[in-house]
Amino acid sequence: MEFVSTRGGGTPVTFTEALARGLAPDGGLYVPRQLPLLASNLLVEDALPYPALAWDFLSLFDTDHDSELLIDLIDRSYGNFSDTMNAPLQQLADNLFVLELFHGPSLSFKDFGLQLIGNLFEEQIERTGVPINVLGATSGDTGSAAIHGLAGKKGVNVFILYPEGRIADLQERQMTCTGAKNIFPIPIQGTFDDAQAIVKELMSDLEFKEQKHLSAINSINVVRVLAQCVYYIHAYTQLPPDNRDDVNFVVPTGNFGNIFAGWMVHQMGLPVDQFIVATNQNDILYRLFNTGEYHPDVVQPSHAPSMDIQVASNFERFLYYHNEKNAKATLALMEQFKKDGSLTIPNFNSSNFSATRSTDEDILANIRRVKEDYDYVIDPHTACGFQDLNPDKTHVVLATAHPAKFPEIIKKAIGETPTEPSLEALKKKKQVTYPLEASAAAVRRFLEENGL
Ligand SMILES: *Cc1c(COP(=O)(O)O)cnc(C)c1O
Repeated sequence: MEFVSTRGGGTPVTFTEALARGLAPDGGLYVPRQLPLLASNLLVEDALPYPALAWDFLSLFDTDHDSELLIDLIDRSYGNFSDTMNAPLQQLADNLFVLELFHGPSLSFKDFGLQLIGNLFEEQIERTGVPINVLGATSGDTGSAAIHGLAGKKGVNVFILYPEGRIADLQERQMTCTGAKNIFPIPIQGTFDDAQAIVKELMSDLEFKEQKHLSAINSINVVRVLAQCVYYIHAYTQLPPDNRDDVNFVVPTGNFGNIFAGWMVHQMGLPVDQFIVATNQNDILYRLFNTGEYHPDVVQPSHAPSMDIQVASNFERFLYYHNEKNAKATLALMEQFKKDGSLTIPNFNSSNFSATRSTDEDILANIRRVKEDYDYVIDPHTACGFQDLNPDKTHVVLATAHPAKFPEIIKKAIGETPTEPSLEALKKKKQVTYPLEASAAAVRRFLEENGL
């Protein structure tokens, strides 16, 4: 399968090239040239084991690796989850389900993409002999998922910047207690935006990027999106047959990566009634799907910090398909957005999408209500997915993180503190960090000294 840029520049690339590049050279995002139809037996059979389903799906797009190698990479990526179903579907009521995506090593759905990327990077390094230095900024889950995907692997060093004192204690421990020599967690004296700006500045210095073999791990990598498609099919095949006619997937959303993956599988034939974009108080996407206006606001820190985002990077992929794959029109809209800082989308059609928004009070109330009604504990991100659901429809709410990652908020909501064995073990381990001042020059020097 070939991949093209949403902005139409450059030549089409293979799966492995799209993986290695992340961003297309014209600044666009890679998308598959076509979206093939799913084989119909995938949707009628009982749920396949997760790795088998992942191979059926991913081999449509990765035509570079031979079957045996791809099977091995997939097995290694999904064999270390704590639940043998990988993404088990829990039924809370007749037509209400939760898809648990937090059984990977770092306890958020981001493991589905980043475990696979870790193994694909390792294979790339062996094949090409060229090392990789991964550079990223995180406000929590992306960093720990990337670190768990790459810790201890040969030929790769990982540098993750995060704002000192502004991420959850357990999220920090997941990054700083690995004991792996190739992991460099870097607390900076600044905000997440400062960290992100430093990464952007270093990445846009193409000479430095080339010389230090820098690679990004943020959600623009098309392979992360493809890996996330698989659990939508897996969820569907776990539903009782009576619930398969009017499925609504509810997705706690920040960068629009997770929900976009679901929408892509729908284009490939997965029967879905609606995708519900569940936002927190940072509600740019809620406003978009209600008005067609894309107006970023100031980020307000919330109880669901991994969704504290105003500019959703995967939104460009949505625009591309909204424009019926017209890359020129997509480029024009992105340029207008860059110029004006906001966008009105012509002939906006939100067809398969609707949207909800949750304040911090809603988040606490939803955690409490789900515990009272179903004796089930959800995390603050998943809680946004329980806002304003129509009780007459079948809903599958994606549980994006394990509640034990956010003990203070859960305690506040229901008076009890969930625990999880891997997090408990972290509390006794030694933290290793490499604090730096919030400047690109300081991080550049550090990369020069410690990069491969
Ligand atoms: C990253 C994250 C989200 C948002 O996912 P997007 O793909 O950016 O929409 C939601 N919940 C949790 C727990 C996350 O870590």
